Amino acid sequence: MHHNFLFDLDQTLLDFHASEREALEIVVTKHGLMFHEDIYRRFKEYNKSLWLELEKGTISRTELFTMRFNDLIQNCGCDITKFDALKINDEFIYTMSVNGILMDGALEFVKKIKEEIQDSRIYIISNGATVNATGRIRSTGLDKYIDGIYISEALGVNKPSVEFFDICLKDIGEQKGSCIVIGDSLTSDMLGAKNASLRSVWFMPQGDIGKAVSAYNIDYCASSFDELFAILSKWAEHN
Ligand SMILES: [Mg+2]
Repeated sequence: MHHNFLFDLDQTLLDFHASEREALEIVVTKHGLMFHEDIYRRFKEYNKSLWLELEKGTISRTELFTMRFNDLIQNCGCDITKFDALKINDEFIYTMSVNGILMDGALEFVKKIKEEIQDSRIYIISNGATVNATGRIRSTGLDKYIDGIYISEALGVNKPSVEFFDICLKDIGEQKGSCIVIGDSLTSDMLGAKNASLRSVWFMPQGDIGKAVSAYNIDYCASSFDELFAILSKWAEHN
């Protein structure tokens, strides 16, 4: 039996937003467009609204990819007929996948877990696209410390569904009591742990913490990697 740590990826170990911003700047600049904060803010807002439309089924994936870059090109004051929005989108997705950015101290933290907590196993549990997640993990060197990666796109189910965790647990092949979920999101990570009857650590908690802790049966909260390490090493001693 091992100590199995199931880590969420984005805003837990990797900074998704920083990677997205970096990739956008690289690609937009490469195409001779002007990149600045307003362009980025507008892209994020519009992109978010398009993903909601996609979830509702009112637009397709291809439409989403085209629309978000046509909008960006227009906001840069350029003519959309002179650019290939889908090609720019592909470049953006690729560039992001090779530009992972770690949360401050994340690499040292996972290294310390592997070195100082006996029989520790680190797994990634993430909602998202496989290439994007695995590429960013590899580009940061995080992969050296990871024992397994579970991505929703490959599994065909998302956190917080119990099916997502059933697949992970079956593959890990150890008892639930040897596993603990660590993540920043209440609605995917903490709810998922609750649905799957797993122990949980809410990382970087915010808002009404007391209310969330009781609503999601959260076992621990940690506001830094130092706090998280202390909680996990203590948990491992007793499990
Ligand atoms: Mg997250």
